[in-house]
Amino acid sequence: MELQSITTHRIDAEDRLVYTDDGWREFAIDNHYSLFYEQHLMGYTLWSFISDKTLIHLYQSLLHCVRLARKPAKTRYRCDSPGVLREFEMTIRPLENGGAEFENRLIRISKRPMIRLLDIFAPRGPEWVTMCSRCKAIKTPGGWQELEQAALELSLFQSDPLPEITHGLCEACYEVMLEEIETFKEAG
Ligand SMILES: [Zn+2]
Repeated sequence: MELQSITTHRIDAEDRLVYTDDGWREFAIDNHYSLFYEQHLMGYTLWSFISDKTLIHLYQSLLHCVRLARKPAKTRYRCDSPGVLREFEMTIRPLENGGAEFENRLIRISKRPMIRLLDIFAPRGPEWVTMCSRCKAIKTPGGWQELEQAALELSLFQSDPLPEITHGLCEACYEVMLEEIETFKEAG
């Protein structure tokens, strides 16, 4: 399936998901999210789709600034599939009704060897590993490591069953997002 390089979703003034375009839908299907996402996801708050509390807090701060300043802000994140690295730039625009529009633009895509850890159908055991919600880095005993590097070095990625993924936010992403928010505020 040829995926759209730009997808859009919108929330209302209470942060509830109220609209997704066809591209967003195709992307969701390609990533094996529920085909019935529209019935299941519409009306839920945006924050129920993000598992890390710190990332939620940072996104909420940025969104608050966007609504207050009535101008768009940009940030980045990764949303990979097992064999493809994908980096997105997200533009958050305020809407007249107090809601906001999120435009997700694919800015980097590259095929790489399959990383089974990202295969949502692979069986999971009692072990778990922490992944950064924003950049997909993996927390290792020696600190946060890029996903591809961690996949090469950590034998647990080849283990059967695979570890469960829990989500966090790495220090680098925390710093970057704080900086983005501060820069946005300073720009007035
Ligand atoms: Zn990160």
